[in-house]
Amino acid sequence: MNAMLQPRFVTRVHQRARPPRRWYYDRDAETMPRETLGRLQLRRLRATVKSAWQNVPLMRARMEAAGVKPGDIGALDQVSALPFTQKVDLRDAYPFGLFARPRQSLVRLHASSGTTGKPTVVGYTRHDITLWSDLMARSLACAGARPGDVIHNAYGYGLFTGGLGAHYGAERLGATVVPVSGGMTERQVMLMRDFGARVLCATPSYALNIAEVAEQQGVDLRASSLEIGVFGAEPWSEAMRAEIEARLGVKAVDIYGLSEIMGPGVAVECEAQDGLHGWEDHFLFEIIDPESGRPRPDGEAGELVITTLTKQALPMIRYRTRDITRLTRGRCACGRTHLRLQRITGRNDDMLIIRGVNVYPSQIEAVLVGLPGIAPHYQLVVERRGNMDELTIEVEGDADAAPRVQHHVKSMIGISAAVVVKKPGEVPRSQGKAVRVRDLRPKSR
Ligand SMILES: [Zn+2]
Repeated sequence: MNAMLQPRFVTRVHQRARPPRRWYYDRDAETMPRETLGRLQLRRLRATVKSAWQNVPLMRARMEAAGVKPGDIGALDQVSALPFTQKVDLRDAYPFGLFARPRQSLVRLHASSGTTGKPTVVGYTRHDITLWSDLMARSLACAGARPGDVIHNAYGYGLFTGGLGAHYGAERLGATVVPVSGGMTERQVMLMRDFGARVLCATPSYALNIAEVAEQQGVDLRASSLEIGVFGAEPWSEAMRAEIEARLGVKAVDIYGLSEIMGPGVAVECEAQDGLHGWEDHFLFEIIDPESGRPRPDGEAGELVITTLTKQALPMIRYRTRDITRLTRGRCACGRTHLRLQRITGRNDDMLIIRGVNVYPSQIEAVLVGLPGIAPHYQLVVERRGNMDELTIEVEGDADAAPRVQHHVKSMIGISAAVVVKKPGEVPRSQGKAVRVRDLRPKSR
């Protein structure tokens, strides 16, 4: 039967004012059969490798050194023959050395704030910006945002990709975006309430700051129109999720991205909150052994490596993210066919080694958040005494909280730490990206 003759009016009769709960921004792409997705990935991978070969001398030199040419890639798993790209390559090529398009064809630049020396610069053609906006709109919709929502965007605007990435995505979705950026938290609470925000985009640590300020002002955001939080740009724990959900009255959804690959919107959780869907029509995801660089199978933890499949200005071949996660390709309850990344709770670079024990700040967070008598604000101070690394945990809480924190950290993580209990408000509050670790150890270089 001709599709045009299907009785579509029947559904229109039952049409609701809001789109239904299960709703895709791009149904065809998000529910594409995996075989089709694989063919699309291979075609796009070959085009990306060819563009890098033709336009980025460093990439071509590396491929030649590895003895691989674009024409050699005949199957997706042959991606492992290609050389890696790392953050240091972007710094060494500062500012535009890795771009595959002339500077004049770029419509925007972003940069990371390097703690030392030059930042890493990324650039976008008009097509890249359109693509990013689409993927961010898809991600917001996957998180539960809908056209017509008021989206309160508290990600920082500027060279950081978070603010503008979420902004363009929210507009593309058809939402009303409030470009508030970070800071002036009292005013943010007022605007969220008065404008009727349904969605909050922020770092999880700043969301917690907003919750605290609202409580101090006597504003109950749980009773407001706020329903969804889209939180990312820093690692956070399940305990922090539960804390934020309880205090803001939202469903807290994890979103993932990095500037070197695109910005926010590379992967996001769906309503199932069981891993983040990575958008495979635009990115190829791999897991490798961080030591040997060899691929690891699905289900095994390792370093996430991403190849961009459609980006023009800055194609990335096998970019090492330093993020540790696992991949699953099993069916998701939401109907999307794209693989899922396990929640990323730590970046290789953030790992502390305290007397031989590997610790991520988020592990300590998971112990602290939810302990009775402890506020969910903390900083970790690492010092070197003799040859030993010493950890001090600064928290806010009851005067007698220190021994309890010490005991729980020891029993859950297996490390001994000093605990300093501070007065309410003394641990610095996040205005964007939280400072979790103050590393006072002498620099080795
Ligand atoms: Zn899903």
